[in-house]
Parts: sequence; C-alpha cells; structure tokens
Amino acid sequence: MLGRVAPPFSTRRLALRLLASGVRDPRALRARVNLHNLREWGRYRRTEATCNICGHVGTLRYDLPDLATFARHHIRPLRETLRCRGCHAKMRDRVLAAGLLDVLRDRGIDAETVDELVGRIPADLRILDTDAHSRIARRLQAHPGLVRSLYLPGKENGERLDDDRMLNVDLERMPFPDRHFDVVITSEVMEHVRHVDTAHREIARCLEDDGVYLFTVPYDAELTETWVLIDPETDEELVSPPHVHGDPMIREAGIKAYRVFGRDLVGDLERTGLRASFAPVHRPELGIFEGDLFVATRAVAHAR
Ligand SMILES: [Zn+2]
Repeated sequence: MLGRVAPPFSTRRLALRLLASGVRDPRALRARVNLHNLREWGRYRRTEATCNICGHVGTLRYDLPDLATFARHHIRPLRETLRCRGCHAKMRDRVLAAGLLDVLRDRGIDAETVDELVGRIPADLRILDTDAHSRIARRLQAHPGLVRSLYLPGKENGERLDDDRMLNVDLERMPFPDRHFDVVITSEVMEHVRHVDTAHREIARCLEDDGVYLFTVPYDAELTETWVLIDPETDEELVSPPHVHGDPMIREAGIKAYRVFGRDLVGDLERTGLRASFAPVHRPELGIFEGDLFVATRAVAHAR
C-alpha cells in the first residue's frame, strides 16, 4: 500500500518520512526542513546531470539531509544525497563510480557508465566491493571477477553469504591470497573498523602490484589528527552522543563510528603499505560537486 501511494525515493515518501521524524523529534525536523535545504532542493531540481552508473539523464533529488547531524559527523551533506532519479544512486556512489571508470580507462577499458562496463571488463580482472549492496556492486554483479562482501561478526570469516562471490569478510583478516585484487573499494567502512591499520595492511597485501584501492571515509582536512570517537581497545565512548551512521529510518540500529579521519590518514596509510592521495572530484555534468575520494596504490617497495 505504502509502496503504491508513496513509492520509495519519491517526493511523497520523503515528505512522509520527514513528517514521521518531526512527530518524534521537532528539532530533527528543523535540521532537515529549513531555508538552506529548501533552496538546495529547488536548485538541484533544476540541475540536470548524467548518472555515470545507470546512464539516466535528468535532474537530481536533494532529499533535505539532516544538516545538524552531518555537521557533527564532519560529513558534507551533498555526498549523501543528490540522488539519480533512475537508479537512486547518491553523489557518493557516483564519485566512486567516477574513480572506478578512471582506473579502468587507464587500463584501456572505456565506458561512460558502470552499466556499460558489464561485458567490457576482462573476466580475470578482480574487483572487491566491501559493500555487497552498493549500487556499483549490484550493477556489476554479472562480472565474474567481482567479489561482494559484508561483515557479519556472527558468521565465519570467508563464509559464503549468497553465492560464491558474496562473502563474509573481516577486513582485519581478509580471506584472500596475496595480490588477489586489481581494484578494492570501501565506502564509509573504515571508520567502523576496529583496527584500521590492520585492515589497511590487509588491503595492501591483497592488492596486485599495480592494483588500486578506492575509498571514501568521513574526512576533515581541518583535523591534523584523526579524531578518535571510540577507544578501539576498550570500546569506551569518548564522544557523546556517539556518531551513529546509517539512516535509522532504513536500518533500525545504525553503526557506531570509531573515528573521523584527519590529515594524518595519508601518513598512516603509507606505514601500512599504501600510497594514497586525496582526489577531489568535481564533475557537475555527472551531478558531482566537490566530491571526496581517496585513491591508493600499493607502496610496493615498502610492502615487500
Ligand atoms: Zn543512475
């Protein structure tokens, strides 16, 4: 019934969700329905872009993000909205897609969209997407070299979750041989990993010598040092209230973040065997406005 009256991702569904959150907490409603957000909503309703995931051409959906929470989490709100009206990908999904398309273009695989990639990527090119349900993972599912992963602590590390290419993966102990992947993607994952250096070392180990690691994290260039929110050894919460990610309307209990990364991230990565750079992506024609992406390669000399 709800699906018919207010289909997912429709303006009506958004209005219903806002109404529901306003009943629970009027302050939360003000963080979403305010002059800034209404202006942005109007602006992106008139902004046309081509989605580099599905190829849809049209205006973008700005779903009045909770500005107060994003400010507290040091996350720029645009990246979590500006949805494509075709595949509902948000800006962050398109930023990663732009990174992936660039990496593959450097290898002679030319495509404008992720959908076009299917069938063009050589079967032996191995990609790991650590968000099994991401827009990219779902649309690349037909590619035999794609592995999709999740981390469900109750399950065995490496356990098959759906098919042979959807696995339970503990990033601190990745169940793959050395130099297995050409591309590894993590998106808003590393802030939730307890021992992030261990996970980065594992990613470096599992990357081909010329492999590329594409990732997004909550990152604030104003912070000289990573801001630790939860002590990874004791689980003591150092910031109150904790930073909980994920829309509670979609996922009952969100996931607590251990940290917001600061400028020391690049140096920390270097010590784990990854040479990373912050790669701002500004591609208005793709509906990407000052998107943030990290691109890392194996620092081979260090890793060996
Ligand atoms: Zn799309």
